[in-house]
Amino acid sequence: MQLIDGNQIASDIIAELRTEVAALPGRKPCLALVRVGEDPASVSYVRKKERTAAEIGVEGRVILPPVTITQAELLALIDTLNADHAVDGILVQSPLPKHLDELAVFRRIAPHKDVDGLGTMNLGKVAQDDDTGFVSCTPAGIMELLARSGVDLKGKHVVVLGRSLLVGKPVALLVLQKKSGANGTVTICHSATANLPALTRQADVLIAAIGRAGFVTADMIKPGVVIIDVGINRVADATKKTGYRLVGDVDFAAVSPLASQITPVPGGVGPMTVAMLMKNTVKARRQGAGPA
Ligand code: NAP
Repeated sequence: MQLIDGNQIASDIIAELRTEVAALPGRKPCLALVRVGEDPASVSYVRKKERTAAEIGVEGRVILPPVTITQAELLALIDTLNADHAVDGILVQSPLPKHLDELAVFRRIAPHKDVDGLGTMNLGKVAQDDDTGFVSCTPAGIMELLARSGVDLKGKHVVVLGRSLLVGKPVALLVLQKKSGANGTVTICHSATANLPALTRQADVLIAAIGRAGFVTADMIKPGVVIIDVGINRVADATKKTGYRLVGDVDFAAVSPLASQITPVPGGVGPMTVAMLMKNTVKARRQGAGPA
């Protein structure tokens, strides 16, 4: 079994981006990071994004509206950032507080600044095999991990667990694309899928993104499978200062000896998500107002 080291691959990408940004003429790329409220996971994600931006030479502009912000006020903030020529990319940290309509906010971001790739135009471009858009960061990170680990998906049966807009659906579309490295045959499973283990056992590549700790067990896979574990789940652990540890959707101890390649949690997909956000921001700077 070979471990797919997301930390190493992400740090390679970050080093490449640092060189690319240093060579860019004119002002440095600027990423607006909008975080509403004090959700602890969001606080730590935005801090990580801000730090990584600084490492690369991207200006991170953190905007912290109060948790009481209304939908209209947040949309007005997005409009201001859309119109600001010094801002190349806009990221609104998910999840937003319950009183806000997240999808409407994502849709408001100008497509050429939508570096999180969650707006309608950029998701549509993924379906159209159009590389001028921004692929959302976690699915893009999964594809990059596979490519840099020498996994060519052509002709492979790729089983995706989960159909969210954030991970499952876009990664399935990417695997399906008619281009080098992709060209896979895809099955997408969700909570209403019948006889799910019979499907996962057919997978040459299994992408698990359901948010259930240790859901994928050794009897659910074919020996030699490549596994990308997207899940980030907290399980109680009295030996940790925090009282919990992070585990994926795959029972790593039991499954990893059977896999040919597998991502750990943490240290697999997670670091890639931030690296791909930076890659999209640099692309936004290069594209300027973007294609019509
Ligand atoms: P989500 O929006 O909650 O979607 C979960 C998906 O899994 C849904 O499609 C759901 O089916 C399906 N599902 C849930 N329980 C299932 C079961 N028992 N059997 C089959 N399907 C089941 O989650 P998400 O945003 O895609 O995230 C998934 C996981 O990835 C989470 O642990 C999240 O923390 C993690 N994540 C990690 C990163 C990273 O950077 N590493 C980024 C994003 C997300 P239905 O559609 O039928 O409800």
